[in-house]
Amino acid sequence: MEDTMQIKLLGVRGTLPVHGPEFSCFGGATSCVLVRAGGETIILDAGTGLSGRAWERFFPEKHFTLLISHAHVDHLMGFPVFPPLFDPTVTCDIYLKSREGRSAQAQLETLMSPPLWPVTTGSMGAALTFHDVPPFFRVGPVAVETMESRHPGGSTIYKLSLDGVSVVYATDFEPESGAPGDILDFCDFARGCSLLLLDAQYTQEEYAHTRGFGHSTIPRSLALARTSGARQTIFIHHDPKRTDAQLLDLEASVRAQSDSITFGREGKEVFL
Ligand SMILES: [Zn+2]
Ligand SMILES: [Zn+2]
Repeated sequence: MEDTMQIKLLGVRGTLPVHGPEFSCFGGATSCVLVRAGGETIILDAGTGLSGRAWERFFPEKHFTLLISHAHVDHLMGFPVFPPLFDPTVTCDIYLKSREGRSAQAQLETLMSPPLWPVTTGSMGAALTFHDVPPFFRVGPVAVETMESRHPGGSTIYKLSLDGVSVVYATDFEPESGAPGDILDFCDFARGCSLLLLDAQYTQEEYAHTRGFGHSTIPRSLALARTSGARQTIFIHHDPKRTDAQLLDLEASVRAQSDSITFGREGKEVFL
């Protein structure tokens, strides 16, 4: 039977791209996830994971949809150099929630304009259509639901569903009770999903000085994964200073408590 969704992690590092032998196992590219489902190509975030050529095998069509969580640069750094955006035969729908009074297009044009960058969105070549993010919409046959995250300046959590299979992408998320991104609301939103991609940037010790930065902790995300009943969970947005050795240790301690959780590795593919 053919898979309903094919997912490839192109970037799982948070905040800042890193490189070097101590990051070679989990990878240093920032947020980017490719999804193929129902004949559609959907890209979640446009971090530096968009660079390189790993996306090509997933990309047979001349149309794709880019779902951006928010415009922090670690989620956009791959956008200005993504080759399909320079192909005049390509069409692309871009979803990014209006924030700070700026539309999706205005936010991207803030990055894509001199002196920050010499190429504007209008001169890239591909036909771009910009969308605000409604609570619910469709990308072909794929249903997309959204939830507001708790993160400085805001961020969007996406759930993609098709034929009983669902993936939740919850990056840049500091879960807290009684606020946007409320823990119980999130667990309802993600309930029983096939795959949960979940921010787990900090250790509990680090959270003493990173509270309010907009990211979850490993123990809190472990609890969310369990409470939501996600069938499989992958922790993402690894802290840029976290080495492979540290991530392997942390992953082993998490898996001793729940074997449905792994830590995201760049290049990992999941078939649902
Ligand atoms: Zn981020
Ligand atoms: Zn952010």
